[in-house]
Amino acid sequence: MLAPYPPLPMNELSRQRLIDEHPCFVEGNSDTFLDEVVKIAALYFNTPICLITILDRKRQWFRARVGTDLQETPRADSFCAYSVALGGSVEVCDAQQDERFRGNPLVTGEPGIRYYAGVPLVLDGGLVLGNLCVIDTQPRPLMSAADQAMLEQIARLAVARLDEMRAAAFIDGTTGLYNHAKLDEDISDAIDRGESPLAVAIELVSPAQLNDMLKSLGFQFLTDFTLAVKNLLRSLLPASWELYKISALRFACAVPGNQLEQAEAVFATLREAFGKPIHCQELPVLPQIGIGVLRLEPGAVPEDWMRLIVCAADEARRTGQGWAYYDEQMDAAQQRSNRLLNDLAGAVRADDQLRLVFQPRVDLNSGACLSVEALLRWTHPILGEISPGEFIPLAEQTALIHAVSFWVINQAINQIDAWRREGANLKVAINVSAADLNNDHLTDEIVRLLARHELDGSCLEVEFTESALVGDFSVVITQIERLQAMGVEIAIDDFGSGYSNWSYLRDIPANTVKLDRSFMDDLQPGSKDWNIVRALISLARELGQRVVAEGIETEHTLKVIRDWGCQEAQGFYISRPLEAGDMLAWLNRCTFATSSSEMA
Ligand code: C2E
Ligand code: MG
Ligand code: MG
Repeated sequence: MLAPYPPLPMNELSRQRLIDEHPCFVEGNSDTFLDEVVKIAALYFNTPICLITILDRKRQWFRARVGTDLQETPRADSFCAYSVALGGSVEVCDAQQDERFRGNPLVTGEPGIRYYAGVPLVLDGGLVLGNLCVIDTQPRPLMSAADQAMLEQIARLAVARLDEMRAAAFIDGTTGLYNHAKLDEDISDAIDRGESPLAVAIELVSPAQLNDMLKSLGFQFLTDFTLAVKNLLRSLLPASWELYKISALRFACAVPGNQLEQAEAVFATLREAFGKPIHCQELPVLPQIGIGVLRLEPGAVPEDWMRLIVCAADEARRTGQGWAYYDEQMDAAQQRSNRLLNDLAGAVRADDQLRLVFQPRVDLNSGACLSVEALLRWTHPILGEISPGEFIPLAEQTALIHAVSFWVINQAINQIDAWRREGANLKVAINVSAADLNNDHLTDEIVRLLARHELDGSCLEVEFTESALVGDFSVVITQIERLQAMGVEIAIDDFGSGYSNWSYLRDIPANTVKLDRSFMDDLQPGSKDWNIVRALISLARELGQRVVAEGIETEHTLKVIRDWGCQEAQGFYISRPLEAGDMLAWLNRCTFATSSSEMA
């Protein structure tokens, strides 16, 4: 005869939700305390088997056990399910005589249960997780009232421990703050009460800054910094805003729905306070705060709201705007960035997605084209052409930039070799990123490739922007000197854009300075750029550097800069970037060279 299926408790759904939300109940290593509890009970009751069970959807799981190797049984075979459904204790003196259990495989087969006594493990709030039970393979008489009380007492010990485990799963170890799981639960509770809270993520540093801190200053520093940030946050936030720590150096708040008015004033205070360095182990660390905000409304809570506020915080940090409300466009941009970054890794390996195009650079005295700049192009199989202005900054945030640069340098040197065999001695300028100059690898690769193709370093120029100098200045200088020792020339790209430091011109032993194309848009007498460009050209020349003007789009601009002594120019007026196969034909026609010498 088949054993009947155990009954379900009335509050089975809430019970299940509790277990789902606390994987610590059913997963994880054995717990020493609970292991001791079952040993004590087995000793006291002199039973071969004692278990602490957790009743899950389809199985009962043995959270602690003595006397059996089984870790779980199907729920259908569970004795404990009766006690859970009842919310009270169950005692079976001889299972073979009890029609609920007679056909149970745990009775008919291993371990051959005859006697069973179980008491429920009841958490605060009345939900029953499972059971503490003692089991014998021989029938026994009913236990005494004193023994029954003892079994219940031991069960309370187990419950206290399970409660502790539940609380620990909600706590961030470093700060003692509640964690993301608790934020999730608290927000759901607020929504269930019909409130519309604000979920707020607070990001303090960029992932790169976090990584740098960890690598150069270590875990203890990071811990101390985190605690300093926590204390500052706590002192600035209203007492009714619970503070959570949801990931490494990312905090969060739940703002009660009735306090939305004051929220922005609080955000402004945070932005101001974190605009100053935080002193940790006597080192000043300048945080880059970003606050992401999302109002959650009952009935319209996005499944992944936590990701959305983190995404908004990231955006607010990157743009320096302090705080940002999550909006869908932002998410779409973020998703595109993630996708591009993922797919770029494949593109570098693929062979048919990346290619170099080459933009001629001409000498303004002779009109001759002596060098070309290699510019990377990516044809994404689905999204089509992606601009390097979009994907290079993304790659630069990860180690992927090194693979990209290696791909570029390989390809550029192959091309130089191919042109050489066709009789054209073109110098190729490649763009590298700041991170490429912070160690030996790229220089080593250039040395290797030049040797393999039997090429002299003078066929190559390396362009980088001033951001390269944010890292370890002396390492960058070493790389520059190694490259120059081989005859490779060095150019500072986009000079004058962003936060330029004119003293770089003196400190970096560059051969060439490329003036940023933003200067060339509106070069009219009396304009600010007019004076800056003239001054930059004369400064660079006095320091012995060649000056190249980028972004020359008109004959007028070309004449102006040539008159000021700029030696070379590059831009759409001369030529757009060309496919490798069109380069030699362009050189042969050399239309620009002729018209330029006419102008000269
Ligand atoms: P960049 O190195 O300053 O390159 C010059 C950019 O200006 C190129 O854009 C070029 O097409 C564009 N340009 C040239 N002449 C004109 C002009 O007359 N008018 C205007 N409006 N634009 C002109 P592109 O190819 O989109 O590249 C953008 C940036 O992406 C480059 O700026 C460079 O910083 C980066 N990049 C391109 N290829 C690579 C690469 O292989 N590696 C690295 N690390 N960065 C690259
Ligand atoms: Mg460049
Ligand atoms: Mg440039």
